[in-house]
Amino acid sequence: MHDTTKTPEDASERLSDITFTDPAAAPLDAAPATRADAGEERETWPAIWRGFRGRCPNCGSGPILRSYLKVRDHCPSCRQELHHNRADDGPAYLTILIVGHIMAPALHIVFVTWRPEPLILITIFSIGCIGLSLYLLPRLKGAIVGYQWARRMYGF
Ligand SMILES: [Zn+2]
Repeated sequence: MHDTTKTPEDASERLSDITFTDPAAAPLDAAPATRADAGEERETWPAIWRGFRGRCPNCGSGPILRSYLKVRDHCPSCRQELHHNRADDGPAYLTILIVGHIMAPALHIVFVTWRPEPLILITIFSIGCIGLSLYLLPRLKGAIVGYQWARRMYGF
Protein backbone atom coordinates (compact mmCIF):
# COMPACT_ATOMS: atom_id res chain seq x y z
CA MET A 1 0.00 0.00 0.00
CA HIS A 2 2.36 2.77 1.23
CA ASP A 3 5.93 3.22 0.14
CA THR A 4 7.73 2.60 3.43
CA THR A 5 11.19 3.53 2.09
CA LYS A 6 10.36 7.24 2.01
CA THR A 7 9.85 9.23 5.21
CA PRO A 8 7.96 12.55 5.37
CA GLU A 9 11.34 14.25 5.86
CA ASP A 10 12.50 12.95 2.47
CA ALA A 11 9.38 14.29 0.81
CA SER A 12 9.77 17.75 2.34
CA GLU A 13 13.42 17.86 1.30
CA ARG A 14 12.52 17.11 -2.29
CA LEU A 15 9.83 19.82 -2.24
CA SER A 16 12.32 22.36 -0.91
CA ASP A 17 14.73 21.46 -3.71
CA ILE A 18 12.31 22.94 -6.25
CA THR A 19 13.66 26.23 -7.58
CA PHE A 20 11.58 28.77 -9.43
CA THR A 21 13.39 29.71 -12.61
CA ASP A 22 10.36 31.13 -14.39
CA PRO A 23 9.38 34.49 -12.80
CA ALA A 24 5.74 33.81 -13.65
CA ALA A 25 5.87 30.59 -11.60
CA ALA A 26 7.41 32.26 -8.54
CA PRO A 27 5.22 32.95 -5.51
CA LEU A 28 3.23 36.17 -5.75
CA ASP A 29 4.89 37.66 -2.67
CA ALA A 30 8.40 37.08 -4.05
CA ALA A 31 9.02 40.77 -4.75
CA PRO A 32 12.55 41.80 -5.74
CA ALA A 33 14.56 42.92 -2.73
CA THR A 34 15.77 46.01 -4.58
CA ARG A 35 12.31 47.60 -4.63
CA ALA A 36 12.76 50.78 -2.61
CA ASP A 37 9.13 51.45 -1.70
CA ALA A 38 7.95 47.88 -1.16
CA GLY A 39 4.48 47.79 0.35
CA GLU A 40 3.98 51.54 0.11
CA GLU A 41 0.50 52.68 -0.93
CA ARG A 42 0.31 54.10 -4.46
CA GLU A 43 -2.62 56.34 -5.26
CA THR A 44 -4.44 55.21 -8.38
CA TRP A 45 -6.10 58.34 -9.80
CA PRO A 46 -3.06 60.65 -9.58
CA ALA A 47 -1.03 57.91 -11.34
CA ILE A 48 -3.67 57.60 -14.07
CA TRP A 49 -3.78 61.39 -14.52
CA ARG A 50 0.02 61.63 -14.71
CA GLY A 51 0.06 58.85 -17.28
CA PHE A 52 -2.71 60.56 -19.27
CA ARG A 53 -0.58 63.71 -19.44
CA GLY A 54 2.30 61.58 -20.75
CA ARG A 55 4.24 61.81 -17.50
CA CYS A 56 5.85 59.16 -15.31
CA PRO A 57 3.28 57.83 -12.79
CA ASN A 58 5.89 57.88 -10.02
CA CYS A 59 7.41 61.38 -10.22
CA GLY A 60 5.05 63.12 -12.64
CA SER A 61 7.85 64.93 -14.48
CA GLY A 62 9.72 62.47 -16.76
CA PRO A 63 8.08 61.59 -20.08
CA ILE A 64 6.55 58.11 -20.17
CA LEU A 65 6.67 57.63 -23.96
CA ARG A 66 9.72 57.94 -26.20
CA SER A 67 7.93 58.14 -29.53
CA TYR A 68 4.26 58.29 -30.40
CA LEU A 69 3.37 55.09 -28.51
CA LYS A 70 6.60 53.44 -27.28
CA VAL A 71 6.80 53.23 -23.47
CA ARG A 72 10.27 54.00 -22.09
CA ASP A 73 12.13 51.30 -20.17
CA HIS A 74 12.89 53.74 -17.35
CA CYS A 75 11.70 57.18 -16.37
CA PRO A 76 14.56 59.57 -17.34
CA SER A 77 13.81 61.68 -14.27
CA CYS A 78 13.37 59.25 -11.33
CA ARG A 79 14.61 55.96 -12.90
CA GLN A 80 11.27 54.27 -12.18
CA GLU A 81 11.13 51.05 -14.24
CA LEU A 82 8.36 51.27 -16.80
CA HIS A 83 9.10 48.17 -18.88
CA HIS A 84 6.78 46.06 -16.70
CA ASN A 85 3.73 47.55 -18.39
CA ARG A 86 1.39 45.33 -20.33
CA ALA A 87 -0.95 47.86 -21.86
CA ASP A 88 -1.39 45.59 -24.92
CA ASP A 89 -4.54 46.58 -26.82
CA GLY A 90 -6.21 48.23 -23.82
CA PRO A 91 -5.50 51.79 -25.09
CA ALA A 92 -6.95 50.93 -28.51
CA TYR A 93 -10.03 49.44 -26.85
CA LEU A 94 -10.61 52.52 -24.70
CA THR A 95 -9.99 54.82 -27.67
CA ILE A 96 -12.61 53.04 -29.78
CA LEU A 97 -15.01 53.05 -26.83
CA ILE A 98 -14.70 56.79 -26.19
CA VAL A 99 -14.50 57.97 -29.81
CA GLY A 100 -17.46 55.77 -30.74
CA HIS A 101 -19.59 57.09 -27.92
CA ILE A 102 -18.79 60.69 -28.88
CA MET A 103 -19.02 60.34 -32.65
CA ALA A 104 -22.12 58.15 -32.98
CA PRO A 105 -24.50 60.57 -31.18
CA ALA A 106 -22.78 63.53 -32.87
CA LEU A 107 -23.34 61.93 -36.28
CA HIS A 108 -26.99 61.44 -35.43
CA ILE A 109 -27.47 65.02 -34.21
CA VAL A 110 -25.64 66.58 -37.17
CA PHE A 111 -27.57 64.47 -39.69
CA VAL A 112 -30.99 65.12 -38.16
CA THR A 113 -30.37 68.84 -37.54
CA TRP A 114 -28.59 70.00 -40.71
CA ARG A 115 -28.84 67.15 -43.29
CA PRO A 116 -25.44 68.05 -44.84
CA GLU A 117 -24.27 66.64 -48.18
CA PRO A 118 -23.01 63.06 -47.69
CA LEU A 119 -19.48 63.94 -48.87
CA ILE A 120 -19.31 66.85 -46.44
CA LEU A 121 -20.62 64.67 -43.60
CA ILE A 122 -18.15 61.82 -44.22
CA THR A 123 -15.24 64.26 -44.60
CA ILE A 124 -15.96 66.03 -41.32
CA PHE A 125 -16.53 62.84 -39.35
CA SER A 126 -13.56 60.98 -40.83
CA ILE A 127 -11.21 63.79 -39.87
CA GLY A 128 -12.90 64.06 -36.47
CA CYS A 129 -12.63 60.33 -35.74
CA ILE A 130 -8.99 60.08 -36.84
CA GLY A 131 -7.97 63.26 -35.06
CA LEU A 132 -9.66 62.35 -31.79
CA SER A 133 -8.27 58.79 -31.94
CA LEU A 134 -4.71 60.01 -32.55
CA TYR A 135 -5.12 62.48 -29.68
CA LEU A 136 -6.50 59.93 -27.20
CA LEU A 137 -4.40 56.83 -28.01
CA PRO A 138 -1.05 57.85 -26.41
CA ARG A 139 -2.83 59.53 -23.49
CA LEU A 140 -4.90 56.46 -22.73
CA LYS A 141 -1.79 54.29 -23.04
CA GLY A 142 -0.10 56.46 -20.43
CA ALA A 143 -3.19 56.24 -18.23
CA ILE A 144 -3.22 52.44 -18.43
CA VAL A 145 0.50 52.24 -17.62
CA GLY A 146 -0.15 54.57 -14.68
CA TYR A 147 -2.99 52.34 -13.46
CA GLN A 148 -0.82 49.22 -13.73
CA TRP A 149 1.97 51.00 -11.84
CA ALA A 150 -0.36 52.15 -9.07
CA ARG A 151 -1.84 48.67 -8.66
CA ARG A 152 1.61 47.01 -8.79
CA MET A 153 0.59 44.82 -11.67
CA TYR A 154 3.04 42.66 -13.65
CA GLY A 155 6.07 43.40 -11.43
CA PHE A 156 5.70 47.17 -10.97
ZN1 LIG B 1 9.63 59.32 -12.95
